[in-house]
Amino acid sequence: MRIVMIGSGYVGLVSGACLADFGHDVVCVDKDAGKIDRLKAGGIPIYEPGLDDLVAKNVAAGRLSFTTDLAGPVGEAEVVFIGVGTPTRRGDGHADLSYVYGAAREIAAALRRFTVVVTKSTVPVGTGDEVERIIRETNPAAEFAVASNPEFLREGAAIEDFKRPDRIVVGIEDERARAPMEQVYRPLYLNKAPVLFTRRRTSELIKYAANAFLAMKITFINEIADLCEKVGADVQEVSRGIGLDNRIGAKFLHAGPGYGGSCFPKDTLALVKTAQDFDSPLRLIETTVAVNDTRKRAMARKVVAAMGGDVRGKTIAMLGLTFKPNTDDMREAPSISIIQALQDAGATIRAYDPEGMEAARPMLENVHYARSAYDAAEGSAAVVIVTEWDAFRALDLARLKSLMAEPLLVDLRNIYRAENVVAEGLRYVSIGRPQDE
Ligand code: NAD
Repeated sequence: MRIVMIGSGYVGLVSGACLADFGHDVVCVDKDAGKIDRLKAGGIPIYEPGLDDLVAKNVAAGRLSFTTDLAGPVGEAEVVFIGVGTPTRRGDGHADLSYVYGAAREIAAALRRFTVVVTKSTVPVGTGDEVERIIRETNPAAEFAVASNPEFLREGAAIEDFKRPDRIVVGIEDERARAPMEQVYRPLYLNKAPVLFTRRRTSELIKYAANAFLAMKITFINEIADLCEKVGADVQEVSRGIGLDNRIGAKFLHAGPGYGGSCFPKDTLALVKTAQDFDSPLRLIETTVAVNDTRKRAMARKVVAAMGGDVRGKTIAMLGLTFKPNTDDMREAPSISIIQALQDAGATIRAYDPEGMEAARPMLENVHYARSAYDAAEGSAAVVIVTEWDAFRALDLARLKSLMAEPLLVDLRNIYRAENVVAEGLRYVSIGRPQDE
């Protein structure tokens, strides 16, 4: 099949490369000429494990190419995916659909044959209707159908998620879209991935409902963790105790500094706005958003309290900046608010992240970027683990301590056991667990 992917970011590039790997002929388009030049030269603009090899393999096989020119490839395509960003709109919290609508207009002008236009971006209910209207208005003669096919991949495990999804959701209003969409995903049918065909609005809502539920689950365990600290219980055991119940499930029950990233914060907010517009408020999600917002700075207060209540003039080492491991994505990372709050309190920050420092630089001022976890710890009055990169799971604690001005480890991801840390002579503070003090 001839497929075009509009937008070659985290979702577009991974999806495009995986679809090429299925045997389809894929052209990835992006407006960002720098990104396309880099891809053409064999580089990868983002960090995603395995993506470099997958892209190189499919480019070499002649199935995957890159361009800034949308018109040529769209005119020949059977299926065109829109995978552009849908960030939070400035001012009101709704999803900013200008990139999606802009892409729809450009696609409309380029259509030459019957084509299925698919929103892969996360878009609010009704966006497919508007995309359809825009295409019809721009090019009244065009033969097309608009489908919704939300993406559920996770950064850091994106290729595996795309190739072995829990399910594929496709929303259609026009039966002519069904066969091409089945053909796109036929290799996955063979793997028995369930494919759920729904109406278009249902499909659009499934994506938001899924993300909102997961964000709520994280926020739930974070609040339980706070209660654990007050009553002397252990949140990890609570998680295990409830997660073994199949109705609840063990995933997304790790207490931490609050959810971040390019999806949960903006998608929960956009869903809240949609629900308010339709006069059907989602109070659970409104509360989730509010609780998570306050949590990040609360984590900074936790660090300050662990350091005796005053951090002015002290150096703090932050290990991990990205919103989760195995990505370089810094969008809405909790580290940003935590660092800013600690700087506001007068602390000096040394930070280390295996992949995120380049993206972090323009977002954070007055941070010293270290070469390693140990380099970051040099002279610090506390080491704070913010992101649970594997590289931080087995630190040489004796070495860490020898470099620090004061021996305190604040573990916002609960990746250490208190007894092991204390045995090395450090004080240890974590989330929702009995502390050493
Ligand atoms: P991104 O910012 O990494 O990539 C978007 C790309 O689209 C950019 O490179 C931009 O230059 C390009 N673009 C914008 N307008 C264009 C146009 N008219 N023509 C060509 N290119 C254009 O964003 P992302 O993280 O890949 O997210 C894309 C969508 O997928 C969003 O709606 C997001 O919510 C959704 N999503 C993201 C993830 C994730 O983990 N990142 C997971 C599931 C769904």
